[in-house]
Amino acid sequence: MERVSQSKTALSVAEAKSLLRNVKLRCTAARIAVLQQLGGLGVPMSHGEVTDRLSQFGFDQSTIYRSLHELSEAGIISRLDLGDQVRRFELRSRKSEAEFEHPHFMCVDCGKIACLSDFSVQLKPSKGSRRRAMGEITEILIRGHCATCQ
Ligand SMILES: [Zn+2]
Ligand SMILES: [Zn+2]
Repeated sequence: MERVSQSKTALSVAEAKSLLRNVKLRCTAARIAVLQQLGGLGVPMSHGEVTDRLSQFGFDQSTIYRSLHELSEAGIISRLDLGDQVRRFELRSRKSEAEFEHPHFMCVDCGKIACLSDFSVQLKPSKGSRRRAMGEITEILIRGHCATCQ
């Protein structure tokens, strides 16, 4: 399996602390560790994946669960629901709201998820569409075969 290098994109402790201070959350070790995990890879992660990566540092499942919840309530991370019953989280970048919105890609073979951060998809309703009846679009998911499974 290909390993993603974390060195360049990793979020520093100082950056994690400033994100927490901005939303007036206390800088606990667990919150910082969770932010660093989500900031390091640039891919959405489930609670289980974050727990796996942090268990070696002695954080338990419920502490991580609570941190993910608090961070998403505070709006630093966002929660994705891609319809496969797995709740995933990703770090919101400090870009504007509009720039942050991006579609996600899911491999139908291995289930791998990727952020299509440099793609933008615009859905323009046609005239007289039933846009209001449909509600709000929260997620754009593109499915296909990833490079490994192709
Ligand atoms: Zn795949
Ligand atoms: Zn994403």
